[in-house]
Amino acid sequence: MRCYQCGKCTAGCVLASDMNYPPSYLMRLLQTGTKQNLDKVLLSNSIWLCLNCENCVGRCPMEIDIPKMMDYLRTQAISQNKLHPDSKPIIAFHRSFLDSVKNTGRLYEMGLVLAYKFRTFNFLQDLAIAPSMYLKGKLHLLPEKIKDRRSMKRIFAQTIENAKTVNK
Ligand code: SF4
Ligand code: SF4
Repeated sequence: MRCYQCGKCTAGCVLASDMNYPPSYLMRLLQTGTKQNLDKVLLSNSIWLCLNCENCVGRCPMEIDIPKMMDYLRTQAISQNKLHPDSKPIIAFHRSFLDSVKNTGRLYEMGLVLAYKFRTFNFLQDLAIAPSMYLKGKLHLLPEKIKDRRSMKRIFAQTIENAKTVNK
């Protein structure tokens, strides 16, 4: 409600022109407080295209944390199953990335790529660059694992519990 529609966030957002609603418009829709406008926000591609780059926070005279708000809106869109079609590959990538970190404690690129492809059935995407990445040592066949993987699983479990409390 502190947003007074100066538009500085939108002026600094690198993705504003690709969004259904740029950040300042999104703020206005939320301020109206109507279910119809909240659904518009949740069903928009804006919340999925946001890169959390924080350009908007740096410019906002009211220091409104728009990226944090975008994170919250993404969790709401998932829990209410109100998803823009653009969100599907993005969610698939997030889940594949987090599975890799949860299971190995590190990013395992090969596992990430395979999990992403099985989730999206987009098997040919970027296939041509795989051999050169492998030859440059960017893709490892086997994952590197941290020793204390139980702690990593505990962090994930605790984060999920915390999110449930916040969403109540
Ligand atoms: S954090 Fe998101 S909304 Fe803010 S400037 Fe970056 S991409 Fe745009
Ligand atoms: S910069 Fe801040 S106050 Fe200005 S429109 Fe964006 S969110 Fe609202």
